[in-house]
Amino acid sequence: MDLKFNEMSMSNQPKEEKHVKVLIIGSGPAGFSAALYAARGNLDPVVLTGNELGGQVSLTYTVENYPGFPEGVGGQELGELFQKQAEKFGAIVEFDTAISVDLSQRPFTITTENAIYKAETLIVATGATPFHLDVPGEVNLTGKGVSYCATCDGWFFKEKDVIVVGGGDSALEESLFLTRYVKSITIVHRRDELRAGAILQKRAKAEPKIKFAWNTVITEVLGNDKVEAVLLKDVVTGNIRKEKTDGVFIFIGHQPNTQIFLGQLELDDHSYLKTNALMQTNIPGVFVAGEAGDSNYRQVVTSAGMGAAAAMQAIRFLEAQNEG
Ligand SMILES: Cc1cc2nc3c(=O)[nH]c(=O)nc-3n(C[C@H](O)[C@H](O)[C@H](O)COP(=O)(O)OP(=O)(O)OC[C@H]3O[C@@H](n4cnc5c(N)ncnc54)[C@H](O)[C@@H]3O)c2cc1C
Repeated sequence: MDLKFNEMSMSNQPKEEKHVKVLIIGSGPAGFSAALYAARGNLDPVVLTGNELGGQVSLTYTVENYPGFPEGVGGQELGELFQKQAEKFGAIVEFDTAISVDLSQRPFTITTENAIYKAETLIVATGATPFHLDVPGEVNLTGKGVSYCATCDGWFFKEKDVIVVGGGDSALEESLFLTRYVKSITIVHRRDELRAGAILQKRAKAEPKIKFAWNTVITEVLGNDKVEAVLLKDVVTGNIRKEKTDGVFIFIGHQPNTQIFLGQLELDDHSYLKTNALMQTNIPGVFVAGEAGDSNYRQVVTSAGMGAAAAMQAIRFLEAQNEG
């Protein structure tokens, strides 16, 4: 690494300038898989962790759909294993957050809270954040009955009663998926009509396991070690009632963590980074992996796969420039 000094860090020290072949922004499944592949390609990748070491999956109690773990694996443990494996082959993990990027020329300049990176290639694996209800009980009971992913957690709710929050396409799609497992679903929606497309609405309304609580919001999720009930408020009358439930699925949208790339990388209408099957962006040498560029699959295994693919592309890119 080249070390120079520039600007000032948060501690008022000049920021160290570091030259790297591969910089990976994000320490979720996509980021650590990219790091593993780039490290095994002898590129000494640096991973910036951001605030969420291990990514979204580290928030969940158990992951049962990541191959290789027939008994399931703790979300945090899986994140730690990803990190350990990448570090074993030489990936360097920095507990730091990217605050701005200049992708106008190579090496790219990435300014973080503590340093300035000059990167020959960049892999963006900043993920996305599901919108939260921000009500008491939601955070404590995440992974213990509160979920943001039907594909991940539906299996745990066989013959249970669950609540789904939301009124858009994903709320209805995920509800219809959940009908494979659950006994009943109450879709809680703050308005008196849905935003979802007409065909999905028709299918959901025809499904005997699904009923609707209109003009209703959740004000609290109740339970000690697991979800036991919710407080529901009728937004028209103001009445609050308690309803027993085994689970709360929240599908009110995702925010991709792509703001720092605005104006430099192409984004779609929902702020996901545009990419192709080769994980390339509109800027040669900048690749995207995982949920930052994927509004479709949103899984650990798919994000990890994209991380591996992005790193392989970065290796090929550097080889083509004779820099690998
Ligand atoms: C509660 C919950 C449970 C889930 N359960 C499952 C499950 O059982 N099975 C399954 O397959 N999927 C599950 N998922 C989905 C899965 O976690 C995601 O699909 C996956 O984590 C996406 O990986 P990613 O690496 O693309 O992004 P993320 O996991 O979102 O990681 C993004 C990373 O980028 C970092 N970052 C963001 N901005 C910056 C920045 N400016 N600078 C530096 N770093 C930055 C963050 O700190 C984080 O480390 C679950 C999701 C949630 C929320």
